Amino acid sequence: MARRVIRKGGTVFDAKSARMHSVAPLTTARPSHPAVSAKVLVLNQSYEPISVCSAKKALLLMFLAKAELIEQRPEASVRTPRQHYPFPSVIRLCAYLRIPYKKIELSRKNILRRDNHRCQYCGTTSPPLTVDHVIPRSRGGADQWENLVCACVHCNNKKGSRTPEEANMRLATIPRRPHHVQFLKQFVGRVDETWRPYLFMD
Ligand SMILES: [Zn+2]
Repeated sequence: MARRVIRKGGTVFDAKSARMHSVAPLTTARPSHPAVSAKVLVLNQSYEPISVCSAKKALLLMFLAKAELIEQRPEASVRTPRQHYPFPSVIRLCAYLRIPYKKIELSRKNILRRDNHRCQYCGTTSPPLTVDHVIPRSRGGADQWENLVCACVHCNNKKGSRTPEEANMRLATIPRRPHHVQFLKQFVGRVDETWRPYLFMD
């Protein structure tokens, strides 16, 4: 009597071989700790940080050989019925992904965001916060990232139409056009220790 075979897409296989080749689906992966929803930093092939995804998605990308493990969480692992896998913390895409980053729009909201809602003169984070022209507009100061900073009302009034040097008010940081990584950091909130080198924080 002929073996019972199943024809699928032109391939012949029987129940036995199908069983032999079956792999535990990813959905059965059970991390000991933390959860599969834990955040994983995704690096482009160039090691540039591009986004954050869930550990579940990171594992899927790794299983599909679309990403490789760069950093893992040493205290955790992912278990399937057959194997243990390292729990990802940072992964890197195997192919370079071209990402057309939208230019971050110059706006009051984004200036405050760039400066972490902190007055660049006195350091307060108490609202109301305003946008100050470092070189006042009346003195030819332009509306650009390099000339706009977050300032509290008190400092803005104190500085008036003077330059920081004239007012003897030092800026906490030199204002620059923000990079998407900076906003990514803010989006992420708490930064995992293993992410720091990849977010240019060391
Ligand atoms: Zn201030």
